[in-house]
Amino acid sequence: MSWHVLGAGSLGTLWAARLARAGLPVTLILRDEKRLADYRRAGGLSLVENGQRTLHPLPAETLADTAPIHRLLLACKAYDAASAVAALAPRLAPKAELLLLQNGIGSQEEVAAQAPHARCILVSSTEGAFRRADFEVVFAGHGFNWLGDPLDPTPPGWLAQLEQAGIPRQWTPDILTRLWRKLALNCAINPLTVLHDCRNGGLAEHPAEVAILCAELGELLEGCGQPAAAEHLHDDVQRVIQATAANHSSMHQDVAAGRRTEVAYLLGRACAVAERHALDLPHLRALHQRLLAHLAARGLPVH
Ligand code: NAP
Repeated sequence: MSWHVLGAGSLGTLWAARLARAGLPVTLILRDEKRLADYRRAGGLSLVENGQRTLHPLPAETLADTAPIHRLLLACKAYDAASAVAALAPRLAPKAELLLLQNGIGSQEEVAAQAPHARCILVSSTEGAFRRADFEVVFAGHGFNWLGDPLDPTPPGWLAQLEQAGIPRQWTPDILTRLWRKLALNCAINPLTVLHDCRNGGLAEHPAEVAILCAELGELLEGCGQPAAAEHLHDDVQRVIQATAANHSSMHQDVAAGRRTEVAYLLGRACAVAERHALDLPHLRALHQRLLAHLAARGLPVH
């Protein structure tokens, strides 16, 4: 059974190239005929690992193709996920499985609403990759992938294929805890790096601001039924700030490059959930307002 990979960007290329080189059948889904022509001109996907570039001439089709899809790796940004799946919905086989690689919380529900009969498997990834050119991706940071299904703890039969492809992974019944923890780390670090225009390590100069955000994020996680994601959050945030001191956060990179951010699924989602649970978290709210003003001033979307 073929893997379909939607989104030949950073993570889509990283996953598709590894699955294909393990001999597994992979088909790319690109947005339209123009992107398909661009892809054909590029001759395939290029993955750069340890300075070595390998070319993977995988078969590709557009959203408008009609072949049925049994297993789809959704590797677009959170704000594109629901519309992409809506476009593919007629092609999903009755027991289709969707692997959702999106960061943050919220896009998973939007996707599930577009494909109510599909099984949605959520993925939390700490691997790092970036696009150096069109269809050329650099594998920049080794990491790990947690997979899980909040509605069904049974692991899928194809997990061994990820092993075979060298994709580090673990099935977990606590995938929501993982996603919420990652969201909290993101909320404590990324917006401040944008507002202070600094690398992650620069936040060591703003310890009080980081500490109060961690306290409010902890309150949020406990208030919304994710207490395990709140444990030792401040320690973990400080550890990440130190361990990634030289890096620019993904949100900082997006803003610097004039790209849309995933704020609505990260800090925006945190503030919306706080409001729904009637939690008063003034510093988190103020951070969100400052961030949205910063984005708007640069002509970037605030959702
Ligand atoms: P990316 O490099 O921007 O790639 C997204 C891809 O999705 C693009 O190639 C885009 O196509 C494609 N796409 C969007 N809508 C589409 C549609 N309707 N049909 C077909 N293709 C479509 O994004 P990314 O960095 O891989 O991030 C994907 C998700 O993974 C995000 O939620 C991100 O936060 C998360 N994540 C990323 C990393 C990382 O290191 N990159 C790590 C952990 C988590 P075009 O090329 O035509 O624009």
